Amino acid sequence: MLDGRVTAAEIRREVGAEVSRLKEAYGFQPRLAAVLVGDDPASAVYVRNKVRACEEVGLASEQFMLAASTTTGELLDVVDGLNRNDEVDGILVQLPLPKHINDAIIIEAIDPAKDVDAFHPTNVGLLAMGRPRFVPCTPAGIIELLDRNQIEIAGANACVVGRSQIVGRPVASLLLQRHATVTICHSRTRDLPALTRQADILVAAIGRAAFIRGDFIKPGATVIDVGVNQLKDVSQAPALFGAEAEHRVEAIEKRGYALIGDVHPVEADRVAGKRTPVPGGVGLLTIAMLMKNTLQAAKWRRGV
Ligand code: NAP
Repeated sequence: MLDGRVTAAEIRREVGAEVSRLKEAYGFQPRLAAVLVGDDPASAVYVRNKVRACEEVGLASEQFMLAASTTTGELLDVVDGLNRNDEVDGILVQLPLPKHINDAIIIEAIDPAKDVDAFHPTNVGLLAMGRPRFVPCTPAGIIELLDRNQIEIAGANACVVGRSQIVGRPVASLLLQRHATVTICHSRTRDLPALTRQADILVAAIGRAAFIRGDFIKPGATVIDVGVNQLKDVSQAPALFGAEAEHRVEAIEKRGYALIGDVHPVEADRVAGKRTPVPGGVGLLTIAMLMKNTLQAAKWRRGV
């Protein structure tokens, strides 16, 4: 297993140490502002976890909870205020926004120097050009996980299934920049398993439970499972989770679902060399990298 907990804890410790050093040496505390619009429960949990993680590493944070009826103009005013506020180093607007607000307009309004999610076109462009400034948190976390577990990227055949702006495209850019030979697959790819089977590093960012089966995987490959899906059918648990099924069945009975990635765990474990678990894998790295991006934003902006 490529355990995300270990790597994420390592990164948090490093960020925490650097935050303390900055406080002592320069007397400032990097600050993240998180904006949540509406009352989507999953988004509220994500924002709460991010703010809590900030506190744990000593970063300052503030939450802006806006009503679902907030207009584009009102949200732009909030973003503008945060852009101008010199105390704020990182701005995060939790996506998705309510349907009446165009995500792109808001993302483009964020000061690129405070864009710790790295979705602003300037940061996307810099990454595509091979000179990244901020890197989106999930792809950045995947690279950290590979590096810190001594998985060689240079020269490897890497296959990324999924081409979203948040995961697929940026992780493919990063792998390419690190000299992997990269294949990007999507819903129109012909004979997907024939391509994924060539990969030394296979990244699944699809959003379909257990979609990557054993015969999609090259023996010994490193499999990065980005997917977060809900399994609600208890009868499927034994075939998917094997020895861990009992634990997952308990989760389904208790809260109505168990989390499952895009990779079939039992089948993958028969073939893959290493695999990230869900939960306990990539998701933890995503939050750790947000902390790291916020720290980096503060250092760049304040010239230290
Ligand atoms: P997304 O925007 O929905 O993109 C999914 C991608 O998968 C698309 O590019 C789509 O292809 C491709 N796809 C769909 N069906 C396919 C098929 N049958 N064969 C091949 N490709 C197929 O999703 P996302 O935002 O990238 O997220 C992907 C998953 O990662 C989700 O489960 C999400 O919850 C999870 N996620 C986890 C984290 C974390 O921190 N752990 C962070 C972000 C996302 P097309 O482009 O052709 O439609």
